[in-house]
Amino acid sequence: MKSFRVAEFNAPLKEMNEPTPQPAGTKVLIKVKAAGVCHSDLHIWEGGYELGHGRKPLSLKDRGVSLPLTMGHETVGEIIAFGPDVGESDKGGLKTGDVVLAYPWLGCGKCKTCLGGEENMCIVKPSALGVYCDGGYADHMTVPHPKYLLDLKGLDPVTAAPYACSGVTTYSALKKVESAFDTPIVIIGAGGLGLMALSLLKAMGGKGAIVVDIDAKKRAAAAEAGALAIVDGGAADALEQVIKAAGEPIRAVIDLVGNAKTSQLGFDCLTKGGKLVMVGLFGGGAPWALPLIPIKAITIQGSYVGNLRETAELLDLVRTKKIAPIPVTPMPLAKANEALVDLQKGRLVGRAVLTP
Ligand SMILES: [Zn+2]
Ligand SMILES: [Zn+2]
Repeated sequence: MKSFRVAEFNAPLKEMNEPTPQPAGTKVLIKVKAAGVCHSDLHIWEGGYELGHGRKPLSLKDRGVSLPLTMGHETVGEIIAFGPDVGESDKGGLKTGDVVLAYPWLGCGKCKTCLGGEENMCIVKPSALGVYCDGGYADHMTVPHPKYLLDLKGLDPVTAAPYACSGVTTYSALKKVESAFDTPIVIIGAGGLGLMALSLLKAMGGKGAIVVDIDAKKRAAAAEAGALAIVDGGAADALEQVIKAAGEPIRAVIDLVGNAKTSQLGFDCLTKGGKLVMVGLFGGGAPWALPLIPIKAITIQGSYVGNLRETAELLDLVRTKKIAPIPVTPMPLAKANEALVDLQKGRLVGRAVLTP
């Protein structure tokens, strides 16, 4: 098994060659066909998040991320073998040779949150694949139980891999503002998540979105993907432009960037009773004047990835509505380092996907 691992925070990934593991217990071994390179991989690679206001950065090491680690939480693979403790009923109809998406946002599997189907919110023992356990920057990977494998049934592995993270993250955020779908919503950030949000919004029956980004290339990609309007977030009158483009009160904003400037813009453009859903993890401190939160009766809600049920719903939606894939750049596994650097430097439109 070849893998590219974080051996040291902030240092190039290290190529490792080890024997391919045999799946123990209820585990399933998959042969990786596609592994998306996500922006949050940069944070893992760099070792933490900036929290702003001079606070000590949030360290992933302190949160239980241990090295060496194979990143990669957007993984599609082919089932090679089931562990000895996997019964027929555990397989849910899956068999060797099936191509599956690995749901990565695992928890302890035992607490009330996990048993309630919200493993992504587990605080007992977060065990996300590619974050706390080895993920898909490899030619093989093991998944703890077949229930976390979703049959792709004909979807393309390379374009479907990002549904495990950017897809379900976007879908879950959109579900939180579904009540505002009869008005234009505002999406801040036109990277991989922003483009995916546009196509999902359409499939979910939304009126559409005004997309804000500081990068002209990304704005152009958003316009092409069907944004109602695009606004340069760096413009001095960005707020006025967003409000004008909406043409009616704005009830929902999804901030896929999450820095002081974008969350300020997102907050300021909302009408009374509006909702700001924060998804992006760029970093920094909250910019809002506290009295305006009650005066405008604003809801600020965080959204972190999505649960297994939402991921299955998303794949069904993609299939039934024939959602067009977001632009992806396939790259060989050996270019994992280049993919991360390209992402860090903002050189990618859409998603880099490693194809071992
Ligand atoms: Zn991700
Ligand atoms: Zn749990």
